[in-house]
Amino acid sequence: MKVPFLDLTTTHLEIQDELSAALQRVIHSGWLIAGQELSSFEKEFAESCGVKHCIGVANGLDALFLLLQAYGIGPADEVLVPSNTFIATWLAVSRCGATPVPVEPLDGTYNINPAAIKAAITTKTRAIMPVHLYGQVADMDPINEIAREHGLIVIEDAAQAQGAEYRGRRAGGLAHGAATSFYPGKNLGALGDGGAVLTNDPEIAAKIKRLRNYGSEVKYQHDEIGCNSRLDELQAAFLRIKLSKLDSYNARRREIAAAYNHGLANLPITLPEVPEWALPVWHLYVIRCANRDQLQQKLAERGIGTMVHYPIPPHRQKCYEAFSHYNMPIAESMAAELLSLPMSPTMSDEQVAFVIDSVRAVLR
Ligand SMILES: *Cc1c(COP(=O)(O)O)cnc(C)c1O
Repeated sequence: MKVPFLDLTTTHLEIQDELSAALQRVIHSGWLIAGQELSSFEKEFAESCGVKHCIGVANGLDALFLLLQAYGIGPADEVLVPSNTFIATWLAVSRCGATPVPVEPLDGTYNINPAAIKAAITTKTRAIMPVHLYGQVADMDPINEIAREHGLIVIEDAAQAQGAEYRGRRAGGLAHGAATSFYPGKNLGALGDGGAVLTNDPEIAAKIKRLRNYGSEVKYQHDEIGCNSRLDELQAAFLRIKLSKLDSYNARRREIAAAYNHGLANLPITLPEVPEWALPVWHLYVIRCANRDQLQQKLAERGIGTMVHYPIPPHRQKCYEAFSHYNMPIAESMAAELLSLPMSPTMSDEQVAFVIDSVRAVLR
């Protein structure tokens, strides 16, 4: 038996008739950019997240960057970011000229530690960017409370958390604004690149609509220095189909995670910690293991694909050489010990059982 780390092909083959119909619809409409599919998707996705405005853009990194830009964050500013995130969270801050300031996560949930946020605030701090890592929301109430006390903006990086909930409310609607990504491997993935900004603030929404479109509201009239960051009609049409199935995909991910939780108990590994207020969507199922590389190798020999998220923390990357003096022991031990097991909504029960049996056999 083979178990790929992520199987997008099976998902897309299951819905290929609907995807083909969407392609035909877009071809026949003759409208390829900024049309009905985009505005319908924006409306549908905003509703599903419980927020007023959704603005489709070209990718998740642009969504993060445009939000920071819309809030006027720039060269003199510091933005608090997790020490253990995908590099895009940091890159968005650097791209607007501000300085990312790493904050360590809680050792159990791997999400940003509110107490560590408090300790990292300086007179230059303007914003906090929690990441809902691996599909589980960060502890937003204390983060928003700290932000209120210090007059800071909070921007959720919800790229890994479409459909995840915090105390019954969906990720994307838990702060001033949120950015998400429709990179194919995300829980809500396009058949190419895509992203979106979510916010309840009508002025920020209007500003991002201009910024994504050359800083223009009226054609050939440019009020600010914008960029070109679009979610095209075809991707929007595909995303509408996949959005209609997101809840069932996430439900299947929860079943798989429950099976892993049960089947992998009582082994010398640490399983994911889920606080009682969190309803994760299991973008990734991540275990912690002292002999990670060996486990990964042995699973590969049995035909099981796994990955490491992420092998090098941002402050250890060449592009962030200037940050190499930071000592981030939790992020560094995560990079050395975490392993992501196969997770796709199309995984069969047999595949899940095979992963469990294989991990047990290797660790025995
Ligand atoms: C994927 C991802 C992004 C970036 O999204 P892209 O669409 O690939 O630009 C940002 N932050 C996190 C946490 C991600 O996982």
